[in-house]
Amino acid sequence: MNKIYFDYNSSTPLDKRVLKEMRVYLSDNFANPSAIYSFAQKAKNAIEDARISVAKLVSAKRREIVFTSGGTEANNLAIKGFCFANHSRGNHVITSKIEHSSVLSVFKLLEKKGFKVTYLNVDRDGVVDVSQLKESICKETILVSVMHANNEIGTIQPVERIKAICERQGVCFHTDAVQSFGKIEVNSSFADLITVSSHKIYGPKGAGALYVKSGTNIEPLFNGGHQEEELRPGTEAVASIVGFGKAAALRLSEMDEEGIKVKKMRDALEEGILKAIKGVKVNGHPQNRLYNTLNICIDAVEAQNLVINLDMKGIYASSGSACQAKIPEVSYVLLATGLSERDCSGALRLSLGKCTKESDIRFFIKTLPEIVKNLRKAASHG
Ligand SMILES: *Cc1c(COP(=O)(O)O)cnc(C)c1O
Repeated sequence: MNKIYFDYNSSTPLDKRVLKEMRVYLSDNFANPSAIYSFAQKAKNAIEDARISVAKLVSAKRREIVFTSGGTEANNLAIKGFCFANHSRGNHVITSKIEHSSVLSVFKLLEKKGFKVTYLNVDRDGVVDVSQLKESICKETILVSVMHANNEIGTIQPVERIKAICERQGVCFHTDAVQSFGKIEVNSSFADLITVSSHKIYGPKGAGALYVKSGTNIEPLFNGGHQEEELRPGTEAVASIVGFGKAAALRLSEMDEEGIKVKKMRDALEEGILKAIKGVKVNGHPQNRLYNTLNICIDAVEAQNLVINLDMKGIYASSGSACQAKIPEVSYVLLATGLSERDCSGALRLSLGKCTKESDIRFFIKTLPEIVKNLRKAASHG
């Protein structure tokens, strides 16, 4: 059976060219990059080349990139690292209601540790309320964290406006750019701290980075050796970092052209579904949305049944974000946009990428209406 993967926002296939670069560091070149003999120098240099590639993709200086084990760790390092280092200046922090769980759960922890947290509302399209942000900032505010693009609905936030507001008030601004990085422009001017991840850009899992604008005071989560300017001690995951660097270099040269292709397919998918099935609503901002993401609510079906039935046809899609998939719970992101629990229960996320083919789109548009028809029939008989 033909397999169709529509879950690129959850993870992406490893690019063959990336694997090729990684191989030597998984076998022959196993030296600890911190060692001083010449054999280790190659690993050390490879890490520095990767740092340059990642820095380039966000227009940052090489020394402003700290490698981590992924997006989750980079979000933890940014938020906890900044709050713990600066708590004497204030105990108020601001985020949004639609952040990834690796941001939201950090703020929940900070609340337990005595910080006051404001969770910003979003509008119907999933855009954060910027005037609420302005009103919320007070003398005690030290950090604002708002994601660049949402993983579920693809809505892109006005991060440059948010950064300008924070800058005027002397507040640090962090953005989780895991979903936008490698798809659209992510620039170091967008925030003081920026989270990125490797496995969402055709790199290996287990690598990510935090951009730390020079002069930003954060403290490490771990203590140990001198690696990563002491912000992330521990022997580097050389192969993963090398792969991440190669993936970033490839994105820099290929993302614009691929974006045009992917957008065309996503738009065709959206149009085809809306034409073929009644009672479908598209979520996220109509324009300011990642070009690869389509999140829809389908009336009178359960998302989990949809996902299972699609799976039987060889189609892999998501009923929400991957982290929630095991708990049959409606999406907190969609609820925050004002949808009812009932509306959200039939939410399906389709996210496309560079291996998506036009024939995949055609097959999906042919397959989905039949599944929906059968599920609706079964529901009305039950
Ligand atoms: C995937 C994702 C993360 C987590 O990144 P990992 O590298 O998987 O830990 C964080 N934020 C967003 C928006 C994501 O999509």
